[in-house]
Amino acid sequence: MNTAQSQSQDVTSPVAPELVATDRCDSCGSQAYVRVRLQSGELYFCAHHADEVRAGLQPTALEWHDETDRLRDEHGA
Ligand SMILES: [Zn+2]
Repeated sequence: MNTAQSQSQDVTSPVAPELVATDRCDSCGSQAYVRVRLQSGELYFCAHHADEVRAGLQPTALEWHDETDRLRDEHGA
């Protein structure tokens, strides 16, 4: 039995993806891999549209959460 041990390790567990399959790009509706937090709210973008808006939005973004690295894992090879 290692149940108790695994519960005690929650603090050091790796960061889970914050974006899920139901998060959709605000521009095209594809699965979102980038979340941009602005003072006016949050925007979601696929990898393609995140690249398009990055230059304009990133300077004013409160947070630029990018999970596009996951694309390589999911669609690689
Ligand atoms: Zn898109």
